[in-house]
Amino acid sequence: MGNRAGSIQLQEDEIREIQEETGFSHNQIVRLYSRFTSLDKENNGSLSREDFLRIPELAINPLGDRIVHAFFNEGTDDSVNFRQFLRVLGRFRPLKAAQEKNKLNTREEKLKFAFKMYDLDGDDKISRDELLAVLHMMVGANISEEQLGSIADRTITEADKDGDQHISFEEFVSAMERVDVEQKMSIRFLH
Ligand code: CA
Ligand code: CA
Repeated sequence: MGNRAGSIQLQEDEIREIQEETGFSHNQIVRLYSRFTSLDKENNGSLSREDFLRIPELAINPLGDRIVHAFFNEGTDDSVNFRQFLRVLGRFRPLKAAQEKNKLNTREEKLKFAFKMYDLDGDDKISRDELLAVLHMMVGANISEEQLGSIADRTITEADKDGDQHISFEEFVSAMERVDVEQKMSIRFLH
């Protein structure tokens, strides 16, 4: 740990460890590293929330704010280093073939990540208010408050198996059973 000041070189052995952990190729890691350092304006080896907001793909994504929030679940409260950055990106790596599967981009990990995007206060369950907040971000002003409220109610009623009015991770997983999470949660950041 520790922040080394100045420009930080990526070591070969570190690249190998990251390859192992995230499934990204050597080339992809090098390219993502240069992306990371260009976002890191203070050049201190970690990204702040402000740094993330400079990513255009996140700025235009209605869930951008939630995605940034999830990055900070992996890092500390106010900074994300390169390893943590890639660990989050690794969850969005498309699953093309069985051998590309590693422990980060499995269905389970993608679902965990999606769950965290909803669980704003981090208490491991999704409340009606949290669901409403995300629905707001996704549909914007196109749907009335009343309609959103009834969508939230219906979603909770359908998913809530133990009747505590919240969606736990287990309840979330079974609600998502028929959703193609592997496809929906794959993003191409390198093109
Ligand atoms: Ca919560
Ligand atoms: Ca429940």
